[in-house]
Amino acid sequence: MTTAQRAPRTVIVTGASRGIGAAIARRMADDGYAVIVNYAVDAGGAESVASAIKASGGRAVTVRADVASPDEVAELFRRARDELGPLAALVNNAGTAGAEARVEDRDANELTHLMQTNVVGPVLCAKHAIEAMSTHRGGDGGCIVNIASIAARTGGLPGLVPYAATKGALVTLTKGLANEVADDGIRVNSVSPGLVETEMAHRPGAEAAVEATPLGRMGRPEEVAAAVSWLVSPAASYITGSDITVSGGR
Ligand code: NAP
Repeated sequence: MTTAQRAPRTVIVTGASRGIGAAIARRMADDGYAVIVNYAVDAGGAESVASAIKASGGRAVTVRADVASPDEVAELFRRARDELGPLAALVNNAGTAGAEARVEDRDANELTHLMQTNVVGPVLCAKHAIEAMSTHRGGDGGCIVNIASIAARTGGLPGLVPYAATKGALVTLTKGLANEVADDGIRVNSVSPGLVETEMAHRPGAEAAVEATPLGRMGRPEEVAAAVSWLVSPAASYITGSDITVSGGR
C-alpha cells in the first residue's frame, strides 16, 4: 500500500444539509476527500448534497446526529470510521442563531439549547476527532476547523447577543485546543464569516449589516468553503490556533 493510499481522506462536516455546511461538503469532495454529510433534521437536504457529490464522482455518506447528543456524536464518528476510513478533518459547522430577543426576554431552555448546539456540540465532536486522529499519529495528524463568526468580536446584531457569545466561546476553544493537541500533530483553526447568503442570514438587521460591509454584499457559502479548504490543505501546515475572517472587510 502506498503512502497516498494510507493517508486519511475522510472529512466530517457537521450541519451539512444546507447553507455553508453544504458548500463546505461539496468543496471537500472536490478536493478529493470522502465526506460525511451530517444533519440533525433535514434528511432531504443532506441526501441532495450527498447525491450531488456522488454524481460528480465523489464519495459521501449522510449521517443523522444531533451534535449536542453524546451518543449520537459517538455513532457519527463510528460510522465515519467504518464506512469511509481514517479521519483527516472535522469541520464543526453545525450551529443555530437561536431566538431573536433581548437578553431580559430570553427563556432558559432556549438558551441551554443554543449553548448545547453551538458550544457543547463542537467540543464533543472535537473530543471524538482527536481520539480518531491520534490513532494515526505519525501521519499528518489531522485538522479541526470551527465555523465561528465575526459576531465573536462585534458582539453580534442586537437580539442575537447569546449567539455571539457562543461564537466567542468557539474562537477561544480554537486557540486553547490548538495548544492542547499540537503534540498530536493536530491543527485547530476557526473561520469567522460575516453575513453569508443562507437561511440564517435572512433576519431583521441584515440590510444594515450589508451596508456596513466594505465589499457591499453578503458572502457566498462557497467563499467560506474556500477558506476551510485552504486550512485543511497542506498549504496551511504551519497554521494553528488562528481565526480567519471571511467578511467582505467588516
Ligand atoms: P443554516 O443555513 O441555518 O444551516 C445550519 C445547518 O446546521 C443545517 O444543516 C442544520 O441541519 C445544521 N444543524 C443545526 N443544528 C444542528 C444540530 N444540533 N446537529 C447537527 N446539525 C445541526 O446556517 P448557515 O448560515 O449555513 O450557518 C452555518 C454555520 O456558519 C453556523 O455555525 C453559523 O453560526 C455560522 N455562521 C453563519 C453566518 C451567516 O451569515 N449565514 C455568519 C457567521 C457564521 P438540520 O436542519 O438538518 O438540523
